[in-house]
Amino acid sequence: MRLSQFHLNTSKETPADAEVVSHQLMLRAGMIRKLAAGLYTWSPLGLRVLRKVEGVVREEMNRAGAIEMLMPSIQPRELWEETGRWQKFGGQLLKIKDRKDGEFCYGPTHEEVVTDFARNELRSYKQLPVNFYQIQTKFRDEIRPRFGVMRAREFLMKDAYSFHLGAESLRQTYQAMYDAYARIFTRLGLKFRAVNADTGAIGGSASHEFHVLADSGEDAIAFSDGSDYAANVEMAEAVSPGPRLAGSEAMREVETPWQRTCEEVAKLLDIPLQRTVKSVAIMAEAGFVLALVRGDHVVNEIKLAKLAGLADYRLATEAEIQAYLGSEPGFLGPVLPARPITVIADRSVAAMADFVVGANRKGYHLTGVNWGRDLPEPAVVADIRNAVEGDPSPDGRGTLRIARGIEVGHVFQLGQKYAEALKATVLDAEGKAQVMHMGCYGIGVSRIVAAAIEQNFDANGICWPAPMAPWQVAVCIINPKNDPAVVEAADALYGELQQAGLDVVIDDRGLRPGVMFGDIELVGIPHRVVVSGRGLESGTFEYRARRAADSENLDKAALWKRLG
Ligand code: ATP
Ligand code: MG
Ligand code: MG
Ligand code: MG
Repeated sequence: MRLSQFHLNTSKETPADAEVVSHQLMLRAGMIRKLAAGLYTWSPLGLRVLRKVEGVVREEMNRAGAIEMLMPSIQPRELWEETGRWQKFGGQLLKIKDRKDGEFCYGPTHEEVVTDFARNELRSYKQLPVNFYQIQTKFRDEIRPRFGVMRAREFLMKDAYSFHLGAESLRQTYQAMYDAYARIFTRLGLKFRAVNADTGAIGGSASHEFHVLADSGEDAIAFSDGSDYAANVEMAEAVSPGPRLAGSEAMREVETPWQRTCEEVAKLLDIPLQRTVKSVAIMAEAGFVLALVRGDHVVNEIKLAKLAGLADYRLATEAEIQAYLGSEPGFLGPVLPARPITVIADRSVAAMADFVVGANRKGYHLTGVNWGRDLPEPAVVADIRNAVEGDPSPDGRGTLRIARGIEVGHVFQLGQKYAEALKATVLDAEGKAQVMHMGCYGIGVSRIVAAAIEQNFDANGICWPAPMAPWQVAVCIINPKNDPAVVEAADALYGELQQAGLDVVIDDRGLRPGVMFGDIELVGIPHRVVVSGRGLESGTFEYRARRAADSENLDKAALWKRLG
């Protein structure tokens, strides 16, 4: 690319309305321009970076066996009524009408559409597992769009959805996606952390978020210095990601048809489901249930218990908890016992929780469950919403550190929630219809661009990790208008670097060196090579890596070494 034929439009001024450094630098570099609140145009420069990120994401998704497709961004109301989310999704859902008064929304996410596709396309278990993905524009009417493309209303997401016969297959693909995400963020050169996460409006059981660590991050994440425990502190609880062990023979399913599901009860109370079900302490023994949660969440648990007719449900006293767990006073983050427990269905709040033993199937419970043997080990339930640096880790190992993070990816095990609502079934080997299990996996492609800058900048501008830089190398020509020999040498070098497969830009605009270098640094090109009359005389090029303090004069062989 020749910069004289490109559109580069940089600025020295720090825009007054941009609070975080990535937003400031993206505006100064001319990568994005605001159209309206939360709506941005990606300039040719910005788009180059966005496409690089997209490319890495696409490669790793393909490598992990996902298959690309493209769904409409406009989605019909009727489909969203089938899952109940036309009402439930809330204010982020942008609702629109067509000329015939037909109602639609601009897709904030695609569970409905992809499950509709799947229910029509997938007939047999032999077509499973399958993992569909797309890279596409989403719209969420965020209350407070801010920080440029970091929290925009229209943004680019990679979203994948996997379909399975059975939970075990889902867990395998979930793990494959988790690993693919780790590869993506590693390849992009980002410092990141995977943490346990709440399942939010999307719903489901297990979930992890991937956070780019940065002080400007909107999320606080807690992680232990003594174990691999890590969670978003917006969580009321966290279940550590240990392997799910096979259910043993001692674990027996018991029919409890009188049971009210947590969904029914939550609906009655008009409270959000996720928090409630998952923050419930999942322990029932000797006729009482421990609610191992703090703060207002406990209230929901009590209300739920009463409504469900669990009359003698009460909150355990701290002394009881202590006696039960033998842990320190004041610390409710427990370690669930590794000895066998019996879930007493008619007395247990466990009867209402998704995650809880047995409640995965409506009207059933499990007895004879041993946490260590039958469930993720160690199972951890804790409220870390008010956690501070130095608190004991909920898994009992080490103390908590708190860091700020930017959520760039999120993986969920959805289970059968959407497939059930939309009646997405396949025939199993016996010819019986089975509701599919689903996973969903999102990456904020456009947010990554901003998040990367939050980790990679200096006083002169952006310092892109090489895989997402708009170009790898800038060849800068000093005084092109008056020095044909220099132009010729620069052109030759430019051609050779391109031949070698490097993504090169040549700055042939004829700007003063200071201004030219300022631009190249601001837009964050990893390698800068200056071709000047003086250099030609001594047979050298002036080379500087973006983060280096000084330039070096290198002959051609040495230069090629630097450019790798
Ligand atoms: P957040 O907590 O930041 O609002 P989310 O949990 O609502 O994000 P998900 O539904 O998990 O988002 O969507 C998948 C990914 O899409 C997120 O991990 C994030 O990287 C990206 N994303 C979500 N909302 C936005 C937004 N408003 N602007 C840019 N990217 C976003
Ligand atoms: Mg959100
Ligand atoms: Mg989130
Ligand atoms: Mg999320």
